[in-house]
Amino acid sequence: MSNKRYNTLNNEFKRIFGGKVMKLSVDGGFTCPNRDGTKGSRGCIFCGEEGSGEFAGSRQIPIKEQLEQQKDLLSKKWNSDQYIIYFQNFTNTYGTIDRLRSLYYEALELEGVVGIAIATRPDCLDEEVIELLTDINKKTFLWVELGLQSIHEKTEKFIRRGYPLSLYDKAIDELKRNNIRAVTHLIIGFPNESKDEIIQSVKHVAKTNTWGIKLHSLYIQRDTDLYNYYIKNPFSIMTMDEYIDITIESLERIPKSMVVHRITGDGKKDLLIEPTWSLNKLKVLTSIDKELKIRDTFQGKLFDT
Ligand code: SF4
Repeated sequence: MSNKRYNTLNNEFKRIFGGKVMKLSVDGGFTCPNRDGTKGSRGCIFCGEEGSGEFAGSRQIPIKEQLEQQKDLLSKKWNSDQYIIYFQNFTNTYGTIDRLRSLYYEALELEGVVGIAIATRPDCLDEEVIELLTDINKKTFLWVELGLQSIHEKTEKFIRRGYPLSLYDKAIDELKRNNIRAVTHLIIGFPNESKDEIIQSVKHVAKTNTWGIKLHSLYIQRDTDLYNYYIKNPFSIMTMDEYIDITIESLERIPKSMVVHRITGDGKKDLLIEPTWSLNKLKVLTSIDKELKIRDTFQGKLFDT
């Protein structure tokens, strides 16, 4: 597990590709059934104007140009000539099959691209889409991200997710059946959830034994309905220490092999209202490392199959 007590994405990239891989976020110009009136019209309660993908390129410009811009931007920070194209904003399998095919293949043909990541919803993975993803999976390194956030029905209603847990389970089965890597997003810190309930969600995802997981704290962003809710119904915000404690207990309960894509958030500084401590990402990450050491624990320590 490198120098970390959990299995990071960088570690996995190193193992598979022999070095650093840059993840380049692009905006494929999609919307979301939870925003366009099909499932809902206001989206998930925490979802901002950019559809939960805060750092993707601009949807006004073609994918190829977005990628060049992202490469320029990130090459100042990272030195790599291997890229994963990340379709991040909104629901990236929500379109006609022809459009999806041409978009994914356009991304794959670009120089240096070694894989593709697609963020979507379980209700946007019909047979045709699964078939297309299965084909792509045979040609490149593919993963699919699902924003579950919580297994609890009360939270599903509160956040207006617009699909039940059973649909997530079904999508996971389908992805696994076709050997497609799945990554599940969970949010820690909903106002109506106890620590035990958060751990129950983590254990549910752990049991899927899928490829990856993303954890982050609930953010309250200015451009969201959650912000309006918070103004009218102020609730207590998780402290950094509480977050670190739950994150460590979560890491202990997932399989050792599960790839941890994220354990803290990337909220937009100018929009973030709470938790303000999450802006100091480095401090959160080093505090998690330190606390793992103090507790002499590690990812998978308490995972039971
Ligand atoms: S599913 Fe994703 S894009 Fe759609 S409303 Fe929810 S957070 Fe936003």
